[in-house]
Amino acid sequence: MKKVAKFGGSSLADASQFKKVGDIIREDPDRVYVVPSAPGKRFGGDTKVTDLLYRMYYKASKDEDFGEELDRIKERYQDIIDGLELEDFSLEGDFAQIERRMQQSPDSNYAASRGEYLNAKIMARYLGIPFIDAADVIFFSEDGTLDADRTNEVLSEKLSKTPRAVIPGFYGRGADGNPKTFSRGGSDITGSIVARACRADVYENWTDVSGFLAADPRIINDPVGIEVITYRELRELSYMGAAVLHEDAIFPVRHEGIPINIKNTNRPQDEGTWIVESTCQKTGYTITGIAGKKGFCTVLISKALMNSEVGFGRKVLQAFEEYGISFEHMPSGIDTMTIVVHEDEFKHKEQQVVSAIHRLAEPDSVEIDSDLALIAVVGRGMKSTRGTAGRIFSALAHAQVNVRMIDQGSSELNIIIGVDDKDFERAVRAIYDIFVKTSF
Ligand code: ASP
Repeated sequence: MKKVAKFGGSSLADASQFKKVGDIIREDPDRVYVVPSAPGKRFGGDTKVTDLLYRMYYKASKDEDFGEELDRIKERYQDIIDGLELEDFSLEGDFAQIERRMQQSPDSNYAASRGEYLNAKIMARYLGIPFIDAADVIFFSEDGTLDADRTNEVLSEKLSKTPRAVIPGFYGRGADGNPKTFSRGGSDITGSIVARACRADVYENWTDVSGFLAADPRIINDPVGIEVITYRELRELSYMGAAVLHEDAIFPVRHEGIPINIKNTNRPQDEGTWIVESTCQKTGYTITGIAGKKGFCTVLISKALMNSEVGFGRKVLQAFEEYGISFEHMPSGIDTMTIVVHEDEFKHKEQQVVSAIHRLAEPDSVEIDSDLALIAVVGRGMKSTRGTAGRIFSALAHAQVNVRMIDQGSSELNIIIGVDDKDFERAVRAIYDIFVKTSF
């Protein structure tokens, strides 16, 4: 059995958290590869080391004095080193190099990557296992995306010769040879890449919560946890706003069918959530989870006999493509098509898009409406279950919520409901209650 264990920033925020991680690793010899984040927040209002690094870079790039930030960063690491009582270990040489680089040629990717780099060095020393620099084994292409094939080839080869190792999260090597980071939270992606490369049995993602909850705890008081969720269900939910795992992190492990286990560093005894390709395990309720987001708008395009005009949909979507706007959903009627887009992305370009639709598709009219919230009700248990939609809509009617839009894919995995922004929380509560509190 081989496990990859990725630890998030709050799991490594100080020496006492490091010790918990040490216990977790030592407790299970199958945890052979460790992927750390940079030190995160120790308490509410604290600053993550990654944010301090970005601030340091920002000042350096404007030729301002960045001494204060550098000192705070050094202090964070020194506190960890002292708390772990690591004798004869120092990051002074690394800090001297970082300072020089910031003075000579400040670079935000380089700066941000140092958070994970330094933390992994400490972790390797603390656990007494080798350190592998992510810049030697993870590669980005010219266009800035991950070069998955080259990475997998080089990393697999390296890991086959290194039975245990610590590999820093969040960065790799850019096409120009310098360190390059993923987007924020990207250490989750590194963990997944490492799991794929060594063909791990499990990718453990250790954080500060015991897995996913069936709904947002800011809306639902004490929601139930999710024990098992499929990759596809998670995509439907994460895409709507769940924040525990970086949304790109599932792709490398999904490639190999490796399950992800979300675990809590502060409560390792909890089973957490399993993210799997497929399962025969039944969900406790018809739905697996509910997630949603406010701030969408709809663009309603009408044209008589639209249904018989071949290529009409393509022309409409081309108008959005020309202005770089991605769409979320596209419910349609016989003579109408509605495109649902993010309001903040769309509002600056709305008039250009409307004229492009007129130019390309010659519709009868285009109407824009705003303040739409989308709610995704997701669950593999919905498949072939009669009455799911009926229960959702009667719960919404009882809660006095008007439904503005409905979209259900033929996979029967999710139902998307559009309501007014102002009704969003009430609608989520009504749906949660009908499935979880009064489950049958
Ligand atoms: N340290 C980076 C961030 O704060 C990456 C990560 O933690 O995954 O976004």
